[in-house]
Amino acid sequence: MVHDQIVLRTFRCIAVLAVSTLALIVPLWTVNIKGQQASTPPPPPSTIGPPTRADLLRGQYGRYRANNDLLFYHLDVRVDPDKKSIAGKNTIRFRMLADDTRIQLDLAANLNIDKVMLGATPLKYERDLDTVYVDFPSTLRSGREYTIDFHYSGLPQEQGRFGGMAFRTDGAGHPWITTACEDEGARVWWPNKDQWRDEVERMQISIAVPSDLMDISNGRFMGKTDLGDGYTRWDWLVQYPINNYSVSVNIARYEHFADKLDDLPLDFYVLPQNLEKAKRQFAQAKPMLEAFRSYFGEYPFEKDGFKLIEVPYSGMEHQSAVTYGNGFVNGYLDRDWTGIGISLKFDFIIVHESGHEWFGNAVSAADVSDMWIHEGWTTYLESLYVEKMFGHDEAIRYVNSYKPKVQNREPIITQRGMHRQPQQDMYFKGTLFLNTLRSVVNDDTAWWALVRDVYQQFKYRNIMTEDVVRFFNSRTARDWTPIFDQYLRRSAIPTLQLAFNEPGSMAYRWKTDERAFAMPVRIGRPGNWTIVEPTTDWKVMPTSLGKETMDVATDLYYINVEKS
Ligand SMILES: [Zn+2]
Repeated sequence: MVHDQIVLRTFRCIAVLAVSTLALIVPLWTVNIKGQQASTPPPPPSTIGPPTRADLLRGQYGRYRANNDLLFYHLDVRVDPDKKSIAGKNTIRFRMLADDTRIQLDLAANLNIDKVMLGATPLKYERDLDTVYVDFPSTLRSGREYTIDFHYSGLPQEQGRFGGMAFRTDGAGHPWITTACEDEGARVWWPNKDQWRDEVERMQISIAVPSDLMDISNGRFMGKTDLGDGYTRWDWLVQYPINNYSVSVNIARYEHFADKLDDLPLDFYVLPQNLEKAKRQFAQAKPMLEAFRSYFGEYPFEKDGFKLIEVPYSGMEHQSAVTYGNGFVNGYLDRDWTGIGISLKFDFIIVHESGHEWFGNAVSAADVSDMWIHEGWTTYLESLYVEKMFGHDEAIRYVNSYKPKVQNREPIITQRGMHRQPQQDMYFKGTLFLNTLRSVVNDDTAWWALVRDVYQQFKYRNIMTEDVVRFFNSRTARDWTPIFDQYLRRSAIPTLQLAFNEPGSMAYRWKTDERAFAMPVRIGRPGNWTIVEPTTDWKVMPTSLGKETMDVATDLYYINVEKS
């Protein structure tokens, strides 16, 4: 998904430390400074309000979700463009993980439940806002698999930034119906277990539409069937785990063209009037895929292929069916997104939304609280693409051009279990954080191996930040926990304090919320950096540089610097 808005921030004024005395105890290389810190203003009030009942129902992974493990969906529906309606069923197969008589599913309250069946047996159910508790007449046994058919119908409501499920028309007046529901939840147009932790292993998608239209969905196209009543059913098979919100229908009179990247099928679907523009613009798909393959390994959904599908909103990372609405021009919605000229060299939506195939779709967060795993990583993937295409220096400029968009008002990781999407710092601060980690590793061969292995370790899994930290800790000698915690669980970024009170020496330390924070950083002169290892305690080093001449590599580390 792409960020909401551009928030410009004036760079924070750096409060200067007033240090009254500096007692050097040279042999220990550490000192105490009795100083008076300039008072910093209190942080702004949290913008994260209390959870609603709907937030809790959606966000909690309670007994009736945890008691089962999703295996398979077959979503089989008919979409009527005239009535703006949907009707059909989702067949849900799951394995019980505990003996129980109830499971928790989700369907928007404005849609009708026609019936829920276990074979020939109708099941009772109870609705609570968008939650549907399904009750079974006898106990479902742990370890056994069960299949239910959830029949529903109704008029999905267009909503949210990307439409939820939107019934639009193309320029020629023909129906153009799309879904994009990461914010709202897949419940707004189909019944499912609507949370992030548990995914089906495979999914079949069967969409019946008037026969003059096509449906393009996720996965491999299995064929279409004329139903004899003016409708044709389009069948798709997803052969990998998939997020509920990634499941997508795109119904229109599309033109199709195809290509291949080695054995990977590339399929493109656009409105007829945009065919020639699309053939030019979508040529960027191949170098994009090649760039990401070179960093992370194979395209994650090889068996399902890769698609780009034109839609009336900016774009979305629908798995193996990436949707595109960037107007067939470079940049992001026809502008220089990062303001330094680099964004105009490529199509932001092709690169960003396809980058999510690796982080977001293959490696997925298990709770929306940890959505930086999708957006921070994918924004970083933009810079990896820039590095592959235009070189290292351009990539570093690209990463740093995101600084003005960072607010540092709330931690990137939000409270768990209440479905609260993190603020947009997860994109920009997330990528600046990853660029910082690269500088801490300070060995690009090791860094490229590390990020590749993060992907390979966690692909097709739903993970939390703790899993990433554990992996970093297991792969290197460093304890990364305080670094991750400071950047992801605190609002403020680290401040490197440099004090020049005695000629010929400098005292330095990190000012952070995390007491155990310790991170190397390059200081000195550009091109001739010295790596120091500050902690949150003062250290002293000899230096011929002074307050004006001591530099810090702030394009390689996302930090504040205070000199006194
Ligand atoms: Zn995104």
